[in-house]
Amino acid sequence: MLMLSYHEITATQTPYRYSVSEDRFAGQVRLAAQHGGVRFTFDDGHISQFQYGLPALEAYGAKGTFFVTAGWTGTPRMMDWPELRELTKLGHEVQAHGWQHRFMTECSPAELDQELRQPRETLEDRLGVPVDALSLPHGRWNPRVLSRCQELGYKRVFGSYPWFGRRERSRYPGLELIGRCNIVRDTSDEAFARMLQQGIDRQWLPRIRGTISAALRNSLGDRTYHRLWCLFARRDAADLPREYETATEPKGGTRL
Ligand SMILES: [Zn+2]
Repeated sequence: MLMLSYHEITATQTPYRYSVSEDRFAGQVRLAAQHGGVRFTFDDGHISQFQYGLPALEAYGAKGTFFVTAGWTGTPRMMDWPELRELTKLGHEVQAHGWQHRFMTECSPAELDQELRQPRETLEDRLGVPVDALSLPHGRWNPRVLSRCQELGYKRVFGSYPWFGRRERSRYPGLELIGRCNIVRDTSDEAFARMLQQGIDRQWLPRIRGTISAALRNSLGDRTYHRLWCLFARRDAADLPREYETATEPKGGTRL
């Protein structure tokens, strides 16, 4: 199964790198429906996924997995409970993407528990559906985070690159580590079609990019790297909640 990940789906193309226009998205869903073996996943719970993404999924009978930052539900620009309920009613999955979108690798044990427990309990309680999957905010993880996911009963953890956790898979019995291909504004129709043809195991370009990113992150640290990422991704052009910035800043750190 080829897992794809999306963030914002917008009415028209925007400068934000992690947005895909409605038209382009509909084209991708159509192509994937013809091809088969593709799953659409969405991170953060942005309202645009419901407004501009859901109609295409429905039109082609595709089911999505929506990873929601549960503590943001109902805040400006994010989906609220009626939208999330509608998604589950239509047979789409709503799963967890942290409580406040913190870097889980930097959380204290109490914060990590909140990021993992609270979305699960809240989503299960409000939506009446089982929550057993998590997508890692910022794609960040370490053995402590994965062990805690396992201890708290998560069954599936989704990363943000295609080969996520491949080496670690046998270390966490009962926990499925699932890689994804990020689809961004600049993913051309040709690149998308190639991705479908090649499957998840042969995503060499993202792999090379990922190796460079990991090397940069190791040498610069998560913070500085994240700042560069924001510049590169045109984060300023994203329609994300203010908490996105505060939640990703360390205590006492400067704002982006
Ligand atoms: Zn996210």
